Amino acid sequence: MTSNKLAARPSPKVSDEVRKTTCYMCACRCGIDVHLENGRVKYIEGNRDHPVNQGVLCAKGSAGIMQHYAPSRLRAPMKRVGPRGSGEFEEISWDEAYSIAESWLKPIRETAPEKLAFFTGRDQSQSFTSLWAQAFGTPNYAAHGGFCSVNMAAAGIYTMGGAFWEFGQPDWDRSRLLMIFGVAEDHDSNPIKIGIGKMKANGGKIIGVNPIRSGYNAVADDWIGITPGTDGLFILAMIHELLKAGKIDLNYLCRYTNAGFLVNTDDSSPEFGLFLRDTDGKALIIDRTTGKTAAFDAKGITPDLAGQIRKAGITYKPAFQLLAEKYLDPAYAPENVAEKCGLTAEKIRATAAELARVAFDEEITLDIPWTDWKGEKHDKMTGRPVSFHAMRGISAHSNGFQTCRALHILQILLGSVEVPGGFRFKPPYPKPPESHPKPHAGAQPGKPLDGPHLGYPLGPEHLLLNDDGSAKRIDKAFTWENPFSAHGMMHMVISNAYAGDPYKIDTLFMYMANMAWNSSMNTSEVIRMLTDKDESGEYVIPHFIYSDAYSSETVAYADLILPDTTYLERHDCISLLDRPICEAEAAADSIRWPVVDPDRDVKGFQSALCDLGARLDLPGFVNKDGSQKFADYADYIVSHERRPGVGPLAGFRGPDGDKNGRGEPNPNQIEKYIENGGFWINHIPENAQFMKPWNQNYQDWAVEIGIFDAPAPYVFNLYLEPMRKMQRAAEGHGEIQPPEHLRDQVKATMTPLPEWYEPLEEAVTDKDAYPLHALTQRPMHMYHSWGSQNAWLRQITGVNKLYIPGTLWDANGFGEDDNWAYVTSPHGRIKCQVARMDALNENTVWTWNAIGKKRGAWALAEDAQEATKGFLLNHLINELLPPKGDGRRWANSDPVTGQAAWFDLRVRIEKAPPGGPTEPMLMASKSPVGVGPKNIAYGEEF
Ligand code: SF4
Repeated sequence: MTSNKLAARPSPKVSDEVRKTTCYMCACRCGIDVHLENGRVKYIEGNRDHPVNQGVLCAKGSAGIMQHYAPSRLRAPMKRVGPRGSGEFEEISWDEAYSIAESWLKPIRETAPEKLAFFTGRDQSQSFTSLWAQAFGTPNYAAHGGFCSVNMAAAGIYTMGGAFWEFGQPDWDRSRLLMIFGVAEDHDSNPIKIGIGKMKANGGKIIGVNPIRSGYNAVADDWIGITPGTDGLFILAMIHELLKAGKIDLNYLCRYTNAGFLVNTDDSSPEFGLFLRDTDGKALIIDRTTGKTAAFDAKGITPDLAGQIRKAGITYKPAFQLLAEKYLDPAYAPENVAEKCGLTAEKIRATAAELARVAFDEEITLDIPWTDWKGEKHDKMTGRPVSFHAMRGISAHSNGFQTCRALHILQILLGSVEVPGGFRFKPPYPKPPESHPKPHAGAQPGKPLDGPHLGYPLGPEHLLLNDDGSAKRIDKAFTWENPFSAHGMMHMVISNAYAGDPYKIDTLFMYMANMAWNSSMNTSEVIRMLTDKDESGEYVIPHFIYSDAYSSETVAYADLILPDTTYLERHDCISLLDRPICEAEAAADSIRWPVVDPDRDVKGFQSALCDLGARLDLPGFVNKDGSQKFADYADYIVSHERRPGVGPLAGFRGPDGDKNGRGEPNPNQIEKYIENGGFWINHIPENAQFMKPWNQNYQDWAVEIGIFDAPAPYVFNLYLEPMRKMQRAAEGHGEIQPPEHLRDQVKATMTPLPEWYEPLEEAVTDKDAYPLHALTQRPMHMYHSWGSQNAWLRQITGVNKLYIPGTLWDANGFGEDDNWAYVTSPHGRIKCQVARMDALNENTVWTWNAIGKKRGAWALAEDAQEATKGFLLNHLINELLPPKGDGRRWANSDPVTGQAAWFDLRVRIEKAPPGGPTEPMLMASKSPVGVGPKNIAYGEEF
């Protein structure tokens, strides 16, 4: 130890300043302390006071420094100078970039605003970007939910007014049993890790349901390696068992659900399957005391959940009775579903019994008096300490909506939603479908759209159809192909625009969505569509504007690039109007702010939209005198009011910053957030923290802080009448009916009680030719492709392999090392490396998502392992199903919501000659930012 360089430095000075902001290395939005020295980022740690992570920082979060200094960062606006895909660009000024964008966008706004398709990816500013799109007047706007997890979101909202994800959480302190379905490790990372840690410390049990035992499933006490696409059947079999055993919380069902609503059971009646309603439109129940009908919300009544009543010759039965009759059918008995699910009947029975045991034998009570929505006072809160969490694994199937609905019904039957120990909503949820907007697509030249783009249809009258039945939106959302497509269908935009079906567009404008690579089903085809020219020699999709912070694959295919900042250089609001950081006991929101100044000619995308909005004279983006209204996104965050007194940030409102939730704009609001550590939190009173949909105290608190303008109590939907209305139209009722070729699909899939059906791709695929299911997951240390250019995270996973179960490994004669396979689907073939994994469903293969990269992207060397050994399963997937032989091509999506059915993929594998590279190997693009250095050292230069 002679050299000073090697001498130990026990307490080196880390930094000369700490700035608190919000992490953006995944969707969790943890609070971070960014240590700076001479204006450069030295170190990132967790903010101990922050409600989301309480100081915990994950590998992704601490690697943010390498994200910020990544060589792949875009440096300035660029215009394409070579052919699309070549990667040849010229850096230009912002003024020139805006002028180009204006020259494309102004004429179409004045003549046909629908010719702009504006879609954003995994950003968290959708309340702002949707406002911009509304002001422009195009109906073609959405974010990425359609290819992510709209099934989960929509099933949650329709069934119980809220969903999993960041919109709710288990009661980590009291839950005794947590069951997780299809949960990937990259989303909801720190909060789940902290929660699972708490549960384990308290002696709670975790059951993981997933074909793959990795991540949270690896630390679960029990792993159920289910066959992909059969979760719904497994759940309905457990419901069968609970009904048989009488392990149902009837009191909860009577009070808080539509279990007692009377349903018309006369199949010759035009109202068949709809609720019996009074003259005010209120659903009726049978009052158990009088035996007569009464409005469901009348005081002092208890609905009968069994029996029937006849009125005007029609028999009506409570919804719960229909539910019980349906799921007690032997078709749902464990022994009749077990083989399909890849489980044993004993396992299904034992799991149902365990749920029932914990829910009912370990009932808990909190001595907290509360008042319900009918004014009835209760001296305690009863809890059932069973909770659930689920994610994309059950959502990204073509039967995903009904599977998610089935899971919520299971939770509700156990009485474990919004009770101590169960699943709890985070503000601004719960919020029933009736309280959400309805979708709008009324476009007129030179005018804003007639309302918000997205929403929750309650019947055929809310679909976005022209008089001839054609789609109003480019992605065909809210049509009979997918009536409840609440998040739009970003994955269909490029192929529909290319086909000119339902119409051609002029400009594709996208933000932060890698559609030319891992965000598209059918990657190679999407690249072809973006580069194909028509007979006049012009690109079929004439203009493509793209904004990203990094040189992702999609950059090379755009005509104009608006370079975004890194997350440490930007303003953001994590807003109650969007996807906030609330807890079950508190409303909370937070900001990002430029903790370092950009050293490139880049601009936060939202600030660029403020500039562009003003240049285009968009209403809301210019003052009366025509000057620009919002100087930048920070100005919008502080001064915009969605409703009087309610803006993007709920904290520190009013001229003095002392108002919570509602209050006049505060010009110093962002400074107040910075002083407070980057966030604001407002705790829900103790007597309002549970039973939120029915708790008067919660409803009053929600009105006070601006979540609602008036109390909005409601009941959960076991039986979903809006689905029945769609089905009824398919049966030939009403003025708006599906076209002939879709009638059977609507009838079969829009069932008001969840029905399990075989995933659509499986139903049309030769299972002997393609015997395996193929899945992807995101690694815990990366979030989508965001980790790909990160020098630290690349070292953890720079190559992905296809994991295959031991039986298949042996059957194919794979050996000790350098094992390669061809993987073939009905759509294509890839070559990749394989590895053995025994903690895997025996009919399933899988790999990490988005590790494989295209040559020339992300400032990686052309021979980088991500490009030569990494691979994408996307090449095997198509946004259309294999032909059924009926002359039509059907979407590879959930027929209820349009969710991309990534996980329905079927493949076969064969041993391939050893050695790479992976196939297909697409043509390299030129990197517009050059190639990063071979080594990036964390040292003095940082
Ligand atoms: S969990 Fe996500 S938000 Fe939190 S520190 Fe990790 S990467 Fe950042």
